[in-house]
Amino acid sequence: MSTIQVLDRQFEVYLDTATIQSRIREMADQISSDYAGTRPLFLSILNGAFLFTADLIRSLSIDPEISFIKLASYQGMRSTGTITTAIGLEVDLTGRDVILLEDIVDTGNTLAKFIPHLLQQQPRSVRIATLLHKAEATQHPLTLDYVGFVIPNKFVVGYGLDYDGWGRQYDAIYQLASK
Ligand code: 5GP
Repeated sequence: MSTIQVLDRQFEVYLDTATIQSRIREMADQISSDYAGTRPLFLSILNGAFLFTADLIRSLSIDPEISFIKLASYQGMRSTGTITTAIGLEVDLTGRDVILLEDIVDTGNTLAKFIPHLLQQQPRSVRIATLLHKAEATQHPLTLDYVGFVIPNKFVVGYGLDYDGWGRQYDAIYQLASK
């Protein structure tokens, strides 16, 4: 499908399945090589990162530990900038190599607020792997260690990303169509 309708909006395909999958395999190879001989803890940020997480971890050649957390900071098509929930962080992070898995880094507010909280537990290292990065929109000096695609500052849906709860199921990524 080259265009889809989600609620009141039209979206056009931006990254197709093959492109996404091949980039995720490259990211997995890079991570597997960087963490060879170790057992990093992948902390997947729900809800958006669930498909990215599932595909990435299946392409790794190391033995990962995976946990899921939820940090909500987004409503509709605009980031609210405040984290309302941080639930599910049950693993002891002390001394661990942590890799945060994000679907998209937009303003960077979510990670900028969450990382200091994470560091209180004194992990050995924290790196970020994000499938998408809206580089022009990012307002915090975050080091993004693994980035799938740098994308323009336009709203996207699909492959885990939603528009008000809709559109997560697509295996491609769609961008808001220009009117
Ligand atoms: P940030 O805190 O970096 O501004 O935003 C992070 C979160 O906002 C992402 O994990 C994602 O849930 C949501 N988000 C940011 N940009 C988009 C977008 O273009 N589409 C969708 N569906 N969600 C987005």
